[in-house]
Amino acid sequence: MAETRSTCPYCGVGCGVIIEHDERQIISVRGDEQHPANLGRLCTKGSTLHLTATPALTRQTRLLQPMQRLQRGAAPQPLGWDAALDHAADRLAAIHAQHGPDAIGVYVSGQLLTEDYYVFNKLVKGLLGSNHIDTNSRLCMSSAVAGYKATLGADAPPCSYEDLAHAQTVFITGSNMAWAHPVLFRRLEDARRANPAQRWIVADPRRTETADAADLHLALRPGSDVALYHGLLHLLLQEGLTRPDYIAAHTAGFDALKQRVAAFTPEHTAELTGLRIEDLRTAARWFGSSPATLSLYCQGLNQSSSGTAKNAALINLHLACGQIGKPGAGPFSLTGQPNAMGGREVGGLANLLSAHRDLANPAHRAEVAALWGVPEVPARPGLTAVEMFQAAADGQIKALWIACTNPAQSLPDQATVQRALQRAEFVIVQEAFSTTATAAFADLLLPATTWGEKDGTVTNSERRISRTHAALPPAGAARHDWDIAADVARRLATRIAPERVAMFDYRTPEQVWCEHRESTRGRDLDITGLSYAMLEAQGPQQWPLPEGATVGRVRLYEDGMFPTPDGRAQFADVAFMPLAEPCDDAYPFGLLTGRLRDQWHGMSRTGQLGRLFGHDGLPSVEVHPADLARLGVAEGELLRVRSRRGNVVLSARGSERMAPGQVFIAMHWGGEVLGGVAAGGVNALTSPAFCPRSKQPELKHAAVAIEPV
Ligand code: SF4
Repeated sequence: MAETRSTCPYCGVGCGVIIEHDERQIISVRGDEQHPANLGRLCTKGSTLHLTATPALTRQTRLLQPMQRLQRGAAPQPLGWDAALDHAADRLAAIHAQHGPDAIGVYVSGQLLTEDYYVFNKLVKGLLGSNHIDTNSRLCMSSAVAGYKATLGADAPPCSYEDLAHAQTVFITGSNMAWAHPVLFRRLEDARRANPAQRWIVADPRRTETADAADLHLALRPGSDVALYHGLLHLLLQEGLTRPDYIAAHTAGFDALKQRVAAFTPEHTAELTGLRIEDLRTAARWFGSSPATLSLYCQGLNQSSSGTAKNAALINLHLACGQIGKPGAGPFSLTGQPNAMGGREVGGLANLLSAHRDLANPAHRAEVAALWGVPEVPARPGLTAVEMFQAAADGQIKALWIACTNPAQSLPDQATVQRALQRAEFVIVQEAFSTTATAAFADLLLPATTWGEKDGTVTNSERRISRTHAALPPAGAARHDWDIAADVARRLATRIAPERVAMFDYRTPEQVWCEHRESTRGRDLDITGLSYAMLEAQGPQQWPLPEGATVGRVRLYEDGMFPTPDGRAQFADVAFMPLAEPCDDAYPFGLLTGRLRDQWHGMSRTGQLGRLFGHDGLPSVEVHPADLARLGVAEGELLRVRSRRGNVVLSARGSERMAPGQVFIAMHWGGEVLGGVAAGGVNALTSPAFCPRSKQPELKHAAVAIEPV
């Protein structure tokens, strides 16, 4: 029996796994005790990974050879790799010639490895000549990115997992960490066991399992987070709990923010948030008087039409109290997807460039052009996720190349997404699984490798880069994502820019990674001191790790210097904005969305295992019992949930975890048939409204009506 070290592909905790296999089949998976993220632990999803990679399941669910659909709606036909890649290159080149580079959109994934991401990004920005590449990380972390950059000057989570053990107050806000980041939550429980004086505040409209464990649960009104943070800052100032010395020495812009939060009196904040004034005071005292306060946050802040403002307003609290750059303190975003961080590092989004460079910065564009050996990188920002599919629905985007993600289930406003996939002239779906909703729309299906077969790197929430190793050869004729992208790029370059063929002459993921490493030289995430060999010998490492360093940096900004032009962090004077779609008489309920404990995203992998349905096995809509009684609906009966965009039919479940007037639907379920009635996933209902700065859509809230079927 052989053993291979790798990482779990499910979430941004980035747990290390050891895969036991016989080189033909994965036999078991266990947590890697030497991996600093999980120290041997795995959650239910990670510990069942091997069961999702059995030969029987692979035969049923994997895409094992290239396939072409000669007509929309017809069964796809197999073809060889050469023919498939030439077809891809021919069609893309033709659309490029006829409509220009802006007619092609590439939509990738936070589940790609860093090397995959790098090649896709270079293909679009260095070869096609547009910035129309975006990723499902736009649905995950783009507000966190924008929030960090607006305040701290760089997209760099300043903390480490070891800070959980040093914190005295932990503020978990917009995160059901117990279910979404389970292994990290276990570490937090360990921390409180070791230090019973550690206090937890949880801000969440729902009384989640995380909130159950809190010393103080702030069940705020959905969307009122900025009001809460401004109100807390008002109280911190009132009670003398800010740090004027830190503010004066290390920050800028406090006076304007101070004026803004003057209006957020406890009474006004209580009115906006629905919280009690005494709870607001308690939270402010715990936050400000603690020797070390750590905020942990996730999609409750990010998936919002004011996502950047929410992130920035939370970071304001840390700057005002000097709760940053010391053990146990700081704003710490929990990354949703396993490698959303790696994608950000290579600049694989419509508004970013390699190594945290900004597309809007001419010097940064020139640096990337020089690195790639091209005359220029286009300046015009690309279309972000929601915009890209809207543009395809409107006929402006003619070709969509979708890799390792399932937008026909996961993007909001599915009616528009499905129109986009139908209207696009050419849809490539590069996927490991043949069973995704998006695969049904593909003109060309390119089989990709997946967990257990891939080799490269990922970065987790604490800036830690890990090697991911292949235990098995690719299933069927599948190829690695970076390899497929590079091969299409070479063929495409032959057709549109022959001098650029050599830009994609990669033979190994390490070659790709070394090029990425060089792009980080002198940047905030400089990893020029790191190598694949060092990762093998010393294990996962945190960035930055510049040339000459022997270990990465555990904590950022300990010297009070920030990566801004004047070295000071910037307070963000952000307004509190209401939800994009408030409830009204026609749509009186507020829909909340979130994760289940044992499922991952659209369930293409976890949904194959019966045992992962043991915790929650039925698509349902959770409704407060008082609302169910008012509707005359009994537990288990069917309810139709309608928004302005669509409707779904789900089994009713009474739950006091939300306030009356709120309903909850898990994000994972796709189209189902219940009692003979077709029922769509939650994204038939969700809104495409997005944060104007981060462009992250408000997946967490929509106004809905509910009625018995
Ligand atoms: Fe995988 Fe996340 Fe669970 Fe760790 S916590 S085992 S990374 S799903």
